[in-house]
Amino acid sequence: MTAIFDSISEPLSRRVTAGLAKIGLVLRSRAWKGAGLAGVTPTQGQALALLREAPQGMKLAALAHLLGVSAPTASETVSALVAKQLAEKTPGSDRRSLTLKLTQQGETIALRTADWPDFLGTAVETLDPSEQAAFLRALVKIIRALQENGDIPVQRMCVTCRHFRPYAHPGSPTPHHCAFVDAPFADRHLRLNCPEQEPAPAEQRDAAWTRFAAPAGA
Ligand code: SF4
Repeated sequence: MTAIFDSISEPLSRRVTAGLAKIGLVLRSRAWKGAGLAGVTPTQGQALALLREAPQGMKLAALAHLLGVSAPTASETVSALVAKQLAEKTPGSDRRSLTLKLTQQGETIALRTADWPDFLGTAVETLDPSEQAAFLRALVKIIRALQENGDIPVQRMCVTCRHFRPYAHPGSPTPHHCAFVDAPFADRHLRLNCPEQEPAPAEQRDAAWTRFAAPAGA
């Protein structure tokens, strides 16, 4: 039987989207505020956070890709960070390329700006652990769809990793397997930015996704 609310409600996907958009608005305004206090723009703050995750250094093209901006925009961002002595350019392996690294001062600001989303973490903690795990799984699906459509840069997620073995242990509380560390794991352990991630070949990635996305690995 169709519930009366089915006919009088906006489609569920639209209400979920509206909720995400509200969170996005708050994040943007907090990012501006946090960035302003640290003396950088939100894009510069994001660049600092990304460089902090790459202590060995990062090429400009890689930074532009991860920020989801054009090479000229990334170049402007980096120039501003270098002018503020928060980042430095060092010669790369071949003499024509440059590697970007944080300075000591950049590390300090990156740590400070990393606190931006803390308020959201507090809100997420109001969900119980199973709700958090289900939410993480749903987020992985949304992020992957955005990635497939080219709306966001490729993320270093388990679901696109060559080491990911979804439902390798069916019926177990930790049904997936990471072949890199050779250990089982659950949805709550899914990573969105794993340093060990290696992109899987297309065929393996598609097969893993089909298996992962099926309800409870059916
Ligand atoms: S290596 Fe990292 S991204 Fe890949 S499956 Fe293991 S934990 Fe996930």
